[in-house]
Amino acid sequence: MMSEHVHHDHQSVDHGGSDHAGGHDHGTMIADFRRRFWVSVALTVPVLILSPMIQGLLGLREVFAFQGSIYVLLLLATFVFLYGGWPFLKGMVGELAKRQPGMMTLIALAITVAFVYSAAVVLGLSGKVFFWELVTLIDIMLLGHWIEMRSVMGASGALDALVRLLPATAHRVMDSGDTEEVPVTQIGPGDELLVRPGEKVPIDGIILSGQSSFNEAMLTGESRPVRKGEGQEAIGGAINGEGAVVIEVRKTGDQTYLSQVIDMVRQAQETRSRTQDLANRAALWLTYIALGSGGLTLVVWLGIGQGFSFALERMVTVMVISCPHALGLAVPLVVAVSTQLTAQNGLLIRDRAAFERARNLQAVLFDKTGTLTEGRFGVSDVVPLAEIGVDDVLMWGASLETQSEHPIARGLVSEAKKRGLNLFPVAEFRNLTGQGAEASVDGRRVRVVSPGYVRQQGFEIASEVVEALDAQGKTVVYLLLDDRPVGAIALADIVRPESFAAVERLKQLGIRCMMLTGDATAVARTVAGELGLDDFFAEVLPGDKAEKVREVQSRGLTVAMIGDGVNDAPALIASDLGIAIGAGTDVAIESADVVLVRSDPRDVFAILALSRATYNKMLQNLIWATAYNAVAIPLAAGVAYSWGVILTPAIGAAFMSLSTVIVAINAKLLSRASRLVGAQTGMSSI
Ligand code: ADP
Ligand code: MG
Repeated sequence: MMSEHVHHDHQSVDHGGSDHAGGHDHGTMIADFRRRFWVSVALTVPVLILSPMIQGLLGLREVFAFQGSIYVLLLLATFVFLYGGWPFLKGMVGELAKRQPGMMTLIALAITVAFVYSAAVVLGLSGKVFFWELVTLIDIMLLGHWIEMRSVMGASGALDALVRLLPATAHRVMDSGDTEEVPVTQIGPGDELLVRPGEKVPIDGIILSGQSSFNEAMLTGESRPVRKGEGQEAIGGAINGEGAVVIEVRKTGDQTYLSQVIDMVRQAQETRSRTQDLANRAALWLTYIALGSGGLTLVVWLGIGQGFSFALERMVTVMVISCPHALGLAVPLVVAVSTQLTAQNGLLIRDRAAFERARNLQAVLFDKTGTLTEGRFGVSDVVPLAEIGVDDVLMWGASLETQSEHPIARGLVSEAKKRGLNLFPVAEFRNLTGQGAEASVDGRRVRVVSPGYVRQQGFEIASEVVEALDAQGKTVVYLLLDDRPVGAIALADIVRPESFAAVERLKQLGIRCMMLTGDATAVARTVAGELGLDDFFAEVLPGDKAEKVREVQSRGLTVAMIGDGVNDAPALIASDLGIAIGAGTDVAIESADVVLVRSDPRDVFAILALSRATYNKMLQNLIWATAYNAVAIPLAAGVAYSWGVILTPAIGAAFMSLSTVIVAINAKLLSRASRLVGAQTGMSSI
């Protein structure tokens, strides 16, 4: 999926030649279009009244015609041309500078030709003026752009709201040495924060203790993790690697947090869909065709002996009617509506191309802990395996786990708190990702690890009690004190109630559902059996999770991976569609293409449904927008003239707008698909 992270330049459908993805100045651009539109409309009224043709039509000649009225008309039209037409003229310059003539060039050329010719007629050339056609054309174009920008803007607002829903808390270290959860916005200078493995550094700070490697790729572009220790600066937004560190904050939380939100939204919007690129290329070609057929129209009509003004009017009509406006909007409008819908359904799309691939999904690999299960472990049994008390086993283990982000760790720590145990300070904490964690606690080497790790180290543990717990499908971890197993702790987690519906619905669609877990086989078998999964793989290490994804891919299947943990990140990247649980670790979220903000596995089905619906809408719109031109261009050129059918530029503009409106309405109909999804999963909108 990473290979598709190509950032494309804006191509022919770029509006106003300015940067559409620019975000914050979008609002002012919308206001600008709105102002230009209303001013132009206001001036259109006198232009219509003063136009000879309209006067003739309404029989108002005697009422409004006065000496020199044609010059007033010229003056008004000049103003509308310069003021209302300005965004298009500017857009043309931008497009030509990039050597990518597009819609802006077409519109600008059409209005310039109409204006210059009409002005020349007023100043003495023989022919007829096109003023009212010119101003109404500009009105319609301004309206179209204004509406389009508003819908795109609405979508980015929805995204923004969604990113804010992602959990954004930090662990503040209190004077007692304990940590408390505080919202990132309440952090201030001088606060000390604990950053656990796999978490995003919440805010810039100096490392007070511990060391780790940091992935700063999204900030600096450097893809190799950077090792940092005491006294060095951890940058807000970087992803912490395997170690735990404490940092001292130097700035206020609100500002940098906000900039991270903005960043995430910007990144989500910058990824382009493949269909979009296709539409852009088509629009570029259509521009050439429009210019070519416009010129041809002029030449042919002149050639067969029509007057210049007639030929010119046909040419302008061709250029106007073949503006690839509908084509230019066919995909962006669907994307805008789809973004809004996915946001309302709790989905944050970070990579559109991957989201589009979701419609072909054939297999889904689920992580177990935290994804299919709640990831809220309760300690059920503590079994000493040496001369050590039950509370001591918990005390050593829980001390270590204060530094870990893992759900098991949270279970151990809360059990220790419940029993009122005093915990030791921890140094040199390190994740043994997918297997456990280790650190130096009160001068002793402490590890809490999986059964697989214990076996790997060559220990034989023969305890009937532990075997019985294992058989019950409980998750068992071992405490190693100075390289010796001294205790076992059994924890129980519960399967999310939503997981059943998620698996059932995906299987109904013929999608294979499998589970990948770092946990022991007995636990995995229990969960897989409960949910009716097609297959499962237990005791899988992080690298092997990615390997498994590739293996399933090599069978020719399109694979989605869905996970929450540090150990899921490589598999999320390897898969065709990486999906992260919103409540999961930051590293999982950063590695994913889509984030389930509500942490509900049923939303995988929503992704699939919305992806399919979105794709269909794009296709329909593209077909419509292209087919329309095939009919409209010949008509505009005057092919049907001998049958008495002839289009004026304004009628051409109206047709073009109608075509755009149809594309827009069709895009809006996408929301029906979302209601369908909502009805089926029983979800409510945010
Ligand atoms: P899953 O793949 O199901 O999400 P993980 O890969 O996160 O599960 O964990 C796999 C196993 O590694 C756990 O079942 C546990 O035995 C061990 N483990 C990982 N991290 C920790 C930790 N911080 N404390 C104790 N055990 C851990
Ligand atoms: Mg997990």
